[in-house]
Amino acid sequence: MVNAAEALSIILQAVEPLGAVTVSLPRSLGYAIAEDVIAAENVPSFDNSAMDGYAVRSVDVQNAPVVLEIVGEIAAGTVSARSLEAGQAMNIMTGAKIPDGCDAVVQHEWTDRVDDSHVTILRTVSPGHNIRKAGGDIVAGSVVLEKGKTIRPQEIGILASLGKRFVQIVRPVRVAILATGNEIVDLDKPLPDGKIRNSNAYVLQALVQQSGGECVNLGIAHDERTQLREKITDGLKADVLITSGGVSVGKYDFVVDVLKEIGVEIKFWKVNIKPGMPLLFGVMKNRYVFGLPGNPVSTMVTFLKFVKPALLKLMGHQTVEASLTVHARLQHEITKSDGKRHFVRGILESRNGALTVRSSGSQVSNVLSSLTMANCLIILPEDRNHFNEGEEVEIELL
Ligand code: AMP
Ligand code: MG
Repeated sequence: MVNAAEALSIILQAVEPLGAVTVSLPRSLGYAIAEDVIAAENVPSFDNSAMDGYAVRSVDVQNAPVVLEIVGEIAAGTVSARSLEAGQAMNIMTGAKIPDGCDAVVQHEWTDRVDDSHVTILRTVSPGHNIRKAGGDIVAGSVVLEKGKTIRPQEIGILASLGKRFVQIVRPVRVAILATGNEIVDLDKPLPDGKIRNSNAYVLQALVQQSGGECVNLGIAHDERTQLREKITDGLKADVLITSGGVSVGKYDFVVDVLKEIGVEIKFWKVNIKPGMPLLFGVMKNRYVFGLPGNPVSTMVTFLKFVKPALLKLMGHQTVEASLTVHARLQHEITKSDGKRHFVRGILESRNGALTVRSSGSQVSNVLSSLTMANCLIILPEDRNHFNEGEEVEIELL
């Protein structure tokens, strides 16, 4: 049995980013950029005013207050044909291009209009005052976004300011989802005695979508070799196949056998964690299989800790795990006894500015309701089994 860190490293070593596709700028949100973006031009491309006010020559206002002659007006988007001479000012708006001869803009609040053609400048300013230099945001030729960066609204802004209508992103991963189990019934069927609803396929679909992937729901396979083989073979047409259930050691748990028969190389089966111990990871050429245990909480936790980083790496993201580690004080003691890494459903809150955390309720792995109460997972490492009230523990936000 591997531990959690080994399992993740095996997964991340096995998967490589998928190919690139071109999408329109608004569609690129959330994906990883597939190329270094180099600025073809300065942003802004010209010196411009940071304020509404008066374009001046700073030497003219060294003895402020002084009266200057107004020789023009420059609205945003227009360019002054004339240059500024000694003793002159131009009324200039925010974002308008600085006229030749001008080396400072005095904001409106520091001026007093005398008449149509004269203004009193009330304060002295230094050269460069209120002037936003060409290239002050982005310098032509520089790498503005590195390959692998996740595109957020602010990256969309940078790309738009460079005039990019289309962006190369790493393509979305295609994920097939297969629920297994004779007891599992889908949402459109009545629920006979002894059966349960297929909640996992829907949780997984939501998780894949949230990670930026595209889903194919393969429905439910019975615990029966022929049907499993058929559906799994079908699922291996996608980049990633996620199965739920059937990977434990029960009499009818056939997923591992069937994967082997088909030719999937099992990289690991069983991880030293709770919940989710029977987790399986396999590879067939450039297809990847995650066999998730069927208990709903195990399914979700193993997805978050192991499948999601793989999907993010496949989709080219530089960062595949939470980049910040957060700690909080335990509101109560927690004891375990199995030497496993535990992911405890927790409620994180801020008390007087300090982060504290408590269990969100039953930690049994079929209880989804305590996961809906939870806003974090409390991480309890393998090498310790007792955690005191008031002790700092690592948490991950949900
Ligand atoms: P298994 O991993 O197949 O041994 O299943 C463990 C537990 O998870 C059993 O109680 C199953 O009924 C339950 N389970 C398996 N698949 C699903 C599913 N798709 N939706 C909800 N519960 C499931
Ligand atoms: Mg089962």
